[in-house]
Amino acid sequence: MSELEPASSRVLSREEFPQLFEALGESGYEIVGPTVRDGAIVYDRLRSVDDLPIGWTDRQEAGRYRLEPRGDRALFGYNVGPFTWKKFLFPARERLWTATRDGVSFRVEPEPTEGPRLALLGMRACELAGLAVTDKVFTGGPVSDPGYRARRARILRIAVQCGQAGGTCFCVSMGTGPAVRGGADLVLTELLAPGPHRFLLQASTEAGADVLRCLRGAGRAPSPDDLGQAEATVARAAGSMHRSLDPGGVPELLRETLEHPRWEIVAARCLSCTNCTMVCPTCFCSTHEEVPDLEGTKVERWRRWDSCFNLGFTELHGAPVRKSGLSRYRQWLTHKLGTWHDQFGMSGCIGCGRCITWCPVGIDLTEEIAVLRTPAPPAGKEGKP
Ligand code: SF4
Ligand code: SF4
Repeated sequence: MSELEPASSRVLSREEFPQLFEALGESGYEIVGPTVRDGAIVYDRLRSVDDLPIGWTDRQEAGRYRLEPRGDRALFGYNVGPFTWKKFLFPARERLWTATRDGVSFRVEPEPTEGPRLALLGMRACELAGLAVTDKVFTGGPVSDPGYRARRARILRIAVQCGQAGGTCFCVSMGTGPAVRGGADLVLTELLAPGPHRFLLQASTEAGADVLRCLRGAGRAPSPDDLGQAEATVARAAGSMHRSLDPGGVPELLRETLEHPRWEIVAARCLSCTNCTMVCPTCFCSTHEEVPDLEGTKVERWRRWDSCFNLGFTELHGAPVRKSGLSRYRQWLTHKLGTWHDQFGMSGCIGCGRCITWCPVGIDLTEEIAVLRTPAPPAGKEGKP
C-alpha cells in the first residue's frame, strides 16, 4: 500500500482512534464490526471503540475455537469467527415480496430495498476476496439480486490487515491474504510494537478518502517507519500460517477422483450438520417459502439460507437426489473447489478456514485434498470404516 498518496493516509494513536468512529458517524454510516458475544467474536453493530474485542484473541484448530486474553490491548488481535459479512448483504432470512388479494386478481409488491449505510469495520483480506465471490454470484450474471445489489451499494469496506495467522487459515496458499491487495475503501493496519500503539489508515477509494477528510487533521502523516512496520506485521502473519492448499489442478483432480475411497471415509465422519456451509462466506444456497395469512388475503415469499448438506435440498418429485452423506459432502467440495470455476470463473473457497474450525468432527478440506492427491490404494487395502 506504500504507493498511496500521503494525503490519503493517516496514523491515529490509540487515544485518537475513537475519532474514526466519529468520522464514520458524521459521514452517515452505522458501524458494524467485531465484538465479543457468547464466547466468540461476532460481527454486530458497534456503538463505540469499547465494543471491539479489546485484548482478546481466538485460538482455532479443526473442530475447536476458544477466546483467550492476548496479554495486550489490541483491538483487532484475532482472525475470523463464526460470522461472515455475507449476512449484511444476503440476510439469513429475507422477505422478497408480498402478494395481496385484489378482487379476483392480486397485487405483488416487491420488498423495499432501502436501508442504512453500513461501514463494515474489520474485513480481512480473505473476506474481501469472499465479497468478490458473492458479488459475482449475486450481481455478475444477466440477472442480479435487487436486495444484494442495493445493500452492496451502501457499504463502506474498512479492511484490517492481519497481524497473526489463525490456526485454520490458509489464505497465503489461496492467494487471498493476509495482505489487502484491493477491494477495500480504507485499509487499516494496527501497529502494536515497537513504538506506541497506533493505527495506519490508508484510503483506496474516494469514499475512504472522504472519511479520512472527516478526521479534520487528526493524527499525522505516516512515516517510513510506520509503513515498514505495517509491511512487517503482515509478513509475520503470512509467515506464521501453517496450513495450505495448493489450488493448482484441483478442479481436474476432483473430476478424476469421484470414486476415490476417501469419500466414504470422510462421509462416515460427516454429520451433515451444515455448519461448514453456514459459516462459509461464499456459500449461497437458499430455499424459498410462502407464508399466507389466515384470511387468505395476503401471502409473503421469504428466502432463507439452506445447505447442500440438507437431505431435502435436492428433493425432486418427493425424493432427494443426493441421498447419502457421501454424495452430499462430495457435492459440496467438488462445487466449492472445482465446478465453481466452470460456473463463475473463480474458486468458491477463499481460504478462511471457518469450515475447518466449526466442523464438529474436525473435517479439514486441506487434508481431504492432500489425500485425494495421493493415488488411491488397490481395492481392499484402504481402511474403510
Ligand atoms: S470452504 Fe471453508 S475455507 Fe473455504 S471459504 Fe468456505 S469456510 Fe472458508
Ligand atoms: S461441518 Fe463437518 S460434519 Fe457438519 S456437514 Fe460440514 S463436513 Fe459434515
